[in-house]
Amino acid sequence: MRAIEIVERALQKYEQPVYVRHEIVHNKHVVDGLKAKGARFVEELSEVPDNSVAIFSAHGVPKKVEEEAAARELIVHNATCPLVTKVHNQGKRYVMQGRSVILIGHAGHPEVEGTLGQISAPVALVQTEADVENLDIPTDSPVAYVTQTTLSVDDTKGIIGALHRRFSDLVGPDTRDICYATQNRQTAVRETMRESRCRSRHRRQE
Ligand code: SF4
Repeated sequence: MRAIEIVERALQKYEQPVYVRHEIVHNKHVVDGLKAKGARFVEELSEVPDNSVAIFSAHGVPKKVEEEAAARELIVHNATCPLVTKVHNQGKRYVMQGRSVILIGHAGHPEVEGTLGQISAPVALVQTEADVENLDIPTDSPVAYVTQTTLSVDDTKGIIGALHRRFSDLVGPDTRDICYATQNRQTAVRETMRESRCRSRHRRQE
């Protein structure tokens, strides 16, 4: 994966430790391996000493973190996933088009924090279909949505349906832009559930 390669290359190029803001991937084995090679994982940039190397994880960062790193002249390597950057750019484009932007995602997730902090206009976060009902946006105004990339099509379709029912002028990203890592994971989970349902049905018939 691209983000891991960026950390590996930084470990070869610079004196250790190199600092990584947020766990680069949700995989303990990979994270432990990088720690053993000299990577230090931190939650906030304030934990990175001056004159150090700071790597931003695949989840992306808010603009103010980029600015803080530049002001402190840290050596930055940005491992933000290109699909996450694409979500940031889509959100910015929607704002320029005069649309209210809605982000479908989980509060507190590093990717959500990054996306909210990259779009220089208020973005409404929705986590459930019920949240859609409580949005303080006129139903006939121009609206757009973007989604957290770690959510699959299945995870978001109920909320997107609720948005379409509520707003008459709603646009969203092309479904060809979905993250296949996420979708493949969801499909694998679905297959496993189907197989285990089949197995228990067979057992009941035996
Ligand atoms: S879930 Fe997909 S889009 Fe999101 S960071 Fe991982 S690979 Fe990139």
